[in-house]
Amino acid sequence: MPPSDQNDTDEGHGHAAEELLPLRQVQDMVLSRTSHLETVEVPIEEALGCFLAEPVTAPADIPPFANSAMDGYAVRSSDTGEGGTELSVRGVLPAGSPPPDEPIGPGEAIQIMTGAVMPPGADAVAIVERTERLGAGRVRILGAVSPGANVRSPGSDFKAGERGLSEGDRIGPGQVAVLASFGLATAAVVRRPRVGVFSTGDELVGPGAPLKPGQIRDSNRQMLLAALSRDGFDPVDLGTAPDTEEAVESVLGEATKRCDAVLSSGGVSRGEFDLVKVVLSRLAAEKNGEAFEIGVSIRPAKPLMLAFLPRSGGGPAVACFGLPGNPVSSLVSYNVVALPGLAKMAGNPKRLPRSLAAITSEDLRPSRDGRLNLVRVEGAFGADGRLLVRPAGGQQSHQLSGTLSANCLAMVPPGEPIRAGSPVEVIPIGPLL
Ligand code: AMP
Ligand code: MG
Repeated sequence: MPPSDQNDTDEGHGHAAEELLPLRQVQDMVLSRTSHLETVEVPIEEALGCFLAEPVTAPADIPPFANSAMDGYAVRSSDTGEGGTELSVRGVLPAGSPPPDEPIGPGEAIQIMTGAVMPPGADAVAIVERTERLGAGRVRILGAVSPGANVRSPGSDFKAGERGLSEGDRIGPGQVAVLASFGLATAAVVRRPRVGVFSTGDELVGPGAPLKPGQIRDSNRQMLLAALSRDGFDPVDLGTAPDTEEAVESVLGEATKRCDAVLSSGGVSRGEFDLVKVVLSRLAAEKNGEAFEIGVSIRPAKPLMLAFLPRSGGGPAVACFGLPGNPVSSLVSYNVVALPGLAKMAGNPKRLPRSLAAITSEDLRPSRDGRLNLVRVEGAFGADGRLLVRPAGGQQSHQLSGTLSANCLAMVPPGEPIRAGSPVEVIPIGPLL
């Protein structure tokens, strides 16, 4: 596919009278109807990617005692001088040993390891590289050592009572380490949203079974489950439903029992068998929920069904995202519409999606019908540190091949093409490094 093919041709060109909503407005509809889930206490090893529900303060000074930053000799700095000094070595102090009771006196040193408590009387550490071990328990310190040199003072990382982590902080390896250094086994985080995923379509077949004429493999369900895992949510596989109202309703019934949100794919455009929108509209009316059949002014991923259905057993409404069936549309819709809502539920204080400034190395064409063209692009940082993007491949909405190297969506508004070498705003949808 030539890289200049940036217009999706199989998604239709819109109905003349159809009102399309700007993406931002659709995101606002989602964000105004979602809020973060309840707080749960989880083992810190399981908190990766979660958002803290409460601030965490240091229970004591970290480190708790003055200790050596280097392997060497604990000395009285006043004993040392430019010409070098000979001291008698009183013993060895490994990390984890208690300090000696007796302070080190004039002319004395203690061999000390990194992390060992500073012995009383010593105020500095001469690093082993700047010493010479002599016989008979003596050492030569090869230069002057200034007071406090190579000593980590108590509380030099965190002072007792100081805030270490804040509400809304995302738990990464560094946060896990800080929690562990505070002696905590668990953390209070916002619960990860449990998100159901199902595909709809009579034509869909899973792996293994041979394809009969007219059938294709279901790829959206696995794609969306993978996206949810990657983004730190708790995915629930709800299978594939045929195009009947009963089947779709039964899966949604299951979802409203078990899930905080549900992603379906297919069945939301204008075909005769597009039943997800029919069922979601009916369920919303019957159960006093809300349903919105939306045309989003983006390309791809125009058709969208949003519904907020009461949860069986109470609690916040279950957010239902009826994503379009074309695989690329489904992926784009997930990233720009569903992800912001799910991230909010998960306690992410940042509004998603975030965009970045990039430079395009090829012309980017606008959509011909006035929608925001979300061109799948491959971005990499150039030698000058700028993010350079170029179209990732075929841009039609069934062409998964065009998503393989795509890590961003370039936002190309209606109007003139964005010329090669010009700035363009992009939404990252995959790793940039
Ligand atoms: P629909 O929105 O249901 O009309 O589907 C639009 C297009 O996407 C059709 O070509 C479907 O065959 C295809 N499609 C729908 N669901 C899936 C899926 N789960 N995996 C792969 N392709 C799909
Ligand atoms: Mg379908």
